[in-house]
Amino acid sequence: MTGGLRPLALAGALALSACAEPPVTCAPPRIVVDIGHTPDAPGTVSATGVAELAYNRRFAERLTAALRPRLATGGSAVALEIGEPDPKLDHRVAAIAARRPSLILSIHHDSVQERYLTRRIVDRVELTETDAAAGFSLFVPADTPVAAASLTAARAIADALAAAGERPSLHHAEPIAGENRHLLDPARGIYAGDFLKVLRTAAAPAVLVEVGVIKNPAEERRLSDPTEVDRLTTAVAGAIAALPCP
Ligand SMILES: [Zn+2]
Repeated sequence: MTGGLRPLALAGALALSACAEPPVTCAPPRIVVDIGHTPDAPGTVSATGVAELAYNRRFAERLTAALRPRLATGGSAVALEIGEPDPKLDHRVAAIAARRPSLILSIHHDSVQERYLTRRIVDRVELTETDAAAGFSLFVPADTPVAAASLTAARAIADALAAAGERPSLHHAEPIAGENRHLLDPARGIYAGDFLKVLRTAAAPAVLVEVGVIKNPAEERRLSDPTEVDRLTTAVAGAIAALPCP
């Protein structure tokens, strides 16, 4: 049967044409690692009284350091901190755009709604904490031209964190005031984040990473350990470096 040869011949032709394709080359990545919050408005306060900004800064700087050696020649990763008051985030949005990034990672550490906080007084200072939530949450633009690529990046980050032993938190999806966020990928803790200006205005794929809940004493203890920070930033950097071309 001569007809039986045709599929083989066709397969051979397809294989040849695939080999003839030029290799895919990406433009060198330009990654901005945005340090969430500012010194005058430093975010939430941890269970032990440490401002979120300090956690964000350390994680972002370690992540940037872990990214650099993993990027293709010509690639860059910079940690961006906004030093002046920026209540409307206009400085932050402009500073990110000015760097013409190919990927934006905005680093934060998480809290919970007031109703889940318990209070204690330490040295006449009131501190609040919770054990109602723990784990990471990722937010992406879901209704902009960079939605699909942002979701791809977020999935890679979530998978890397899960492989490192972390778990997503779904507390932002709870149907209560202040939460009610739309889960795009519940298994990976990925939410639609168009309500966040840094994501809504992003011209490049963007992921806002809530690394963990620092109002949770056990989680704060872990995330304040430099070895743990290095373990997680190494995992995330590996995932980012392996992303397909944007
Ligand atoms: Zn924050």
